Amino acid sequence: MQDREIASLTVEELKKLMLEMGEKEFRGEQIFHWIHGKRTVAFDEMTNLPGELREKLKASFDCNLVSLEQKYISKIDKTIKYLFRLKDNNIIESVLMSYNYGNSACISSQVGCRMGCAFCASTLEGLIRNLSAGEMAGQIYQIEKDSNRKISNIVIMGAGEPLDNYDNILKFISIINHPKGANIGQRHITLSTCGLVDKIYDLADKNLQITLAISLHAPNDRIRQEIMPIAKRYYMDELLKACSYYIEKTHRRITFEYALINQVNDREEHAYELADKLKALLCHVNLIPMNPVKESHYRESHQERINYFKKILESKGIQTTIRRRLGSDIDAACGQLRRRYLEGNGVGK
Ligand code: SF4
Repeated sequence: MQDREIASLTVEELKKLMLEMGEKEFRGEQIFHWIHGKRTVAFDEMTNLPGELREKLKASFDCNLVSLEQKYISKIDKTIKYLFRLKDNNIIESVLMSYNYGNSACISSQVGCRMGCAFCASTLEGLIRNLSAGEMAGQIYQIEKDSNRKISNIVIMGAGEPLDNYDNILKFISIINHPKGANIGQRHITLSTCGLVDKIYDLADKNLQITLAISLHAPNDRIRQEIMPIAKRYYMDELLKACSYYIEKTHRRITFEYALINQVNDREEHAYELADKLKALLCHVNLIPMNPVKESHYRESHQERINYFKKILESKGIQTTIRRRLGSDIDAACGQLRRRYLEGNGVGK
């Protein structure tokens, strides 16, 4: 990998780089536009740059950070699951989902994850490394190139804990949101975290207009601690306090993700307890039919139970949706696809 990934640099950093290279500052903006606006990966195609500069760039940088390894297309809907290969041969996964309002890309923010959630395959081998801003943007550009569909929404909800890769995530948001780049509005970006409280406060102070989604998955500390180790570091009260702060600062509604696990967090009393905890917050609950992971003993809830859970939350005034299961025929819980692929290729267990 190059020392400095050019696709991970913001416009300001590129301008600075140009000055360091003895070039005119405005070249930085031109390069940014080629990489992120026009999605060009070949310096030779950057035709408004002088030939000499193109040669210098070619010698020092590579902007092709992510390449397509495999894809799985749903026969039921238009969902496509992608495996991408990175320069160091790590494999990551991303998903393209089509809705009537546009195309949404779910991207990974890390290779692996160290958060240890009990229902998640991405964490089974721990954290391998953070993804750079350019590698996150690269997933989107590759999906667009392959599918010939324009991405209008981004969910940072694939493998990895985005707030554990905080600086790169902020850079990624600023790059992908830039008018000279992909120009995807902050309101079209959802960041999903398992609840790193200190980082939620930091993020709130940045006053971005992104949607914050919290993987809550439990109505109390006892259950949360059983399935999410992060809950031992931050109690639910602290987490919800940070959420209140986020709402107060950004005036944005928070989404709470709640994967229903059979007999663990899906009982009637859990729904009432959850409603009570969330009633004072500007929020929305997204109930997720859990994807079973073969290495874990947790199983998905029955549909009637999910419907009943929703009914209780709504009766208490909590806006609730049940997440539609897309691409169920190519189904794999977060991280499963990558894991299966690596196993099939003699990598991993
Ligand atoms: S659910 Fe998210 S935060 Fe938890 S282990 Fe999986 S990738 Fe990490």
